[in-house]
Amino acid sequence: MSRPGGSCRDPKEIFELADRGLPPEQELEVRAHLDHCPSCKKLYEEELELSAHMGTLEVGEARSVCREVAMALPTRLVGVRILWAGLATALLVTVSLALSLDGTNPAALVVGSVGAFWGFVSGLADVAEAFLVAVEPALLVAFGIGAVLDLLIAGVVFSVSRRRAREA
Ligand SMILES: [Zn+2]
Repeated sequence: MSRPGGSCRDPKEIFELADRGLPPEQELEVRAHLDHCPSCKKLYEEELELSAHMGTLEVGEARSVCREVAMALPTRLVGVRILWAGLATALLVTVSLALSLDGTNPAALVVGSVGAFWGFVSGLADVAEAFLVAVEPALLVAFGIGAVLDLLIAGVVFSVSRRRAREA
């Protein structure tokens, strides 16, 4: 590691140089060494890059929290929608299955157990319909509470990140 310019500097000095923590005289000495020593210069440049990354890390963190909250707003609604769509699909399948058994597949009606099966299916449809009526207001309330909570969270995160940006 020895160079014509002299022996290598302490790596700690190089880190401090990158963080601008060296007294001016010592800084000049270390910089002079860097001009002659590629390995120390490489260390210095890596340290510079690293501290640049560290500097942007905190701001980036606040930004990503904001983005997460923004993403969570539609995500929750989508989740409820998917649940809703799944329920609707199940109902549709049940109803169309019942209809197809009733109308387009008369041969099946001849089979002895089909009458009982049809009774079971229509009973199921009644239950599903009652469930649908009971659940709809509850879903609307859930939508409303979820939206208010989302707004509250977004407001808190926004004010915290703004205060952080002001302090920095
Ligand atoms: Zn060196």
